[in-house]
Amino acid sequence: MGRVVILSPLAGGVSRPEEAHDEWQRYQVAVETLRAEWEQARRIAEAEAPGVVPILDSYLRVLDEVVVGERIREAIAAGTTAERALRQLFEPIIGRLRRSADILLQDRGTELEQVLQRLLSALQQQRVEYSRVAGAIVVATALTPSEVLLLHRAGVCGIVTAVGGITSHTTILARSLQLPAVIGLGKAVGALAEGDSVIVDGYTGVVVLHPSQETRRRYERHRDSTQWRRRILMRFASLPAQTIDGRRYRLMANIASLHDLEEALLVGAEGIGLVRTELLVVQLGRLPSEEEQLQWYRHIAERFSPRPVVFRLFDLGGDKYNDGGPPEPNPALGMRGIRFLLARPELLRQQLRAVLRAATWHNVRLLIPMVSTESEVRAVRRELEIVRQQLRDAGELHGGEIPVGVMVETPAAALIAERLAPLADFFSIGSNDLTQYTLAVDRAYGAVAELYDPFHPAVWRLILQVVEVAHRRGIPVCFCGEITAHAQATEWLVGLGVEELSTLPAAIVALKHRIRRLSFQQARHHLLERLAFGGGEPTK
Ligand code: PEP
Ligand code: MG
Repeated sequence: MGRVVILSPLAGGVSRPEEAHDEWQRYQVAVETLRAEWEQARRIAEAEAPGVVPILDSYLRVLDEVVVGERIREAIAAGTTAERALRQLFEPIIGRLRRSADILLQDRGTELEQVLQRLLSALQQQRVEYSRVAGAIVVATALTPSEVLLLHRAGVCGIVTAVGGITSHTTILARSLQLPAVIGLGKAVGALAEGDSVIVDGYTGVVVLHPSQETRRRYERHRDSTQWRRRILMRFASLPAQTIDGRRYRLMANIASLHDLEEALLVGAEGIGLVRTELLVVQLGRLPSEEEQLQWYRHIAERFSPRPVVFRLFDLGGDKYNDGGPPEPNPALGMRGIRFLLARPELLRQQLRAVLRAATWHNVRLLIPMVSTESEVRAVRRELEIVRQQLRDAGELHGGEIPVGVMVETPAAALIAERLAPLADFFSIGSNDLTQYTLAVDRAYGAVAELYDPFHPAVWRLILQVVEVAHRRGIPVCFCGEITAHAQATEWLVGLGVEELSTLPAAIVALKHRIRRLSFQQARHHLLERLAFGGGEPTK
C-alpha cells in the first residue's frame, strides 16, 4: 500500500555524432555505466538474494556479447548513431521472440526489450532516481532485474509495470524478494497518476486505485497474517535438517509446475529431488518441442542454481498420457516410463538433448523412471552418448557428463540393486510405485485403497536392502515417495540413513521440524527392530 511514483518514460531524443570515434566511445560509456549498475546489483544479490545471481549474470552476458559490440561498432563506423544501431540490432530479435506462440519466448523478448531500453537511457545519461521511492509504489513501463533490486534496496513497497510476463526475470526476482508486484498491466497503467493512493495485490494481480477505508483494513489484516507466516517459514528455512545426534539430511522438493518451484524456494528446499517432467506434457496436452523443454528446464535449473535439480525422464504411458496408441489391458504393467521412451527413440533423444543443454551452466542430474532391467539403463547411457555427440557436432553448449540416476520403484529394480549400482551415479527410491508393485495393489483404485500400505514390511525390507547395497557401493540415495510427507514415516526415513529426502514443497517445513527432534541412532534401532522377522507388524 502506498503512493504512486511514476518512473518517467524515456525521452526519445537522438544525439548527433560528431564523429564515429566519439559515437563509439559514447556507446562504450553507456555500456560501462550499465555494467557498473548491474554489478552493484549483483553484489547486493549475493548477500540478499543469492538465487537471482544467475539471472543478473545472464544480463551481464548480454553486455559482454562480443558479437553485439562488433555489430554496433560496424554500424557506427558506417555513420549510424548508437541508438539507431542498437535498435537495428535488437528490434528484429525482440519482434520475433514476442510474436512467438511460446509464452516463455515472449517473456525473453520482453526482457531483451528492457535491456535495450536501459541501454538507450544510459546513452541519454538518464538515471533512475532511487532516493524518492522509499515507501512508494513504483509505476513504470518496464523494469530490469537490477532496477528491481536497487528499488528494493531503496525501500520501495510495490511495483507495477505495463509490460512483462509471469516468467520474466523481473517477476521472478520480485517474487523472491517478496516485493508485491503486478506485471504487464498494459495500457491500464495510464490510469495511475503520481501521488495516487493504491494497493498492489500480487496474489491476484489486482491494483486497487483509491481504496476505501474498509478495503484498506481488509488488506492490512491479509498483509499482517501473510507476513507472520513468512517470518516463521523463513526463520525455519535457514536451519539445517539435522537430528539431535548430528546426522544431516538434504531436504529437496518434488515439483511438477513453476508454482511448486516458487514454493520450494520459499521454504528453503536444498535442491529439487524430482522434477516430474511428464506434467509438462499433461499441461500442454501434447509433446513439447526440444526448445520448449529447454526453456522450462533451464528456468527451473537457473532458479535453483547452484543447488542440484534432478530431471526425471518423462514417466509417460500408463494412465498419464496416451499418444494415440490402442488402450492397454493393464496400463500400470504396460508401456510406461522408460519402456515408453525406449520405444520412441526420437522423443527420448529430444528430451536428453534438452536436459543436457539446460545443464550447461547448472547443477543438473538425470533420473530414469520405471527401471526393471540393467539393459534399460545401458540403453539410456548409449542414447546419452549419441546425443552428446550430436550436440558437439552442432556446436551446442551442453553439460557433458551429468550424473545419471536410477529410480528404484519396481521390486525387480530393488532386488537387482547390486547389479544396477555399477550403472548408476545415484538411486532414487520411489515408494509410491514400489508399494503398488510389491503389494500388487493399484495405487489409484479406490476399491483397494485399504490394501495400499506404504508402511508394509515387504516394501520396507526392499527399501532397506537397496540402501544397504548403495552404501556398500558408495552411491548416494534419495528417497522421493509421497510417504516423506507422512508424519509417522519420518522416524523410519531418518533411520534409513539416506542422504536426501525429497517431498512436496508444502511438507518440507514440517518434515524438517520432525527430523530436528529425532535421534538417528534411536530411529535406526527402531527401524531395524520393526523390520526384523518376528519383530511385530509396523502400524500405519
Ligand atoms: C514414486 O513412484 O514413488 C515416485 C516418486 O514417482 P511418481 O509418484 O511420479 O510415480
Ligand atoms: Mg513412480
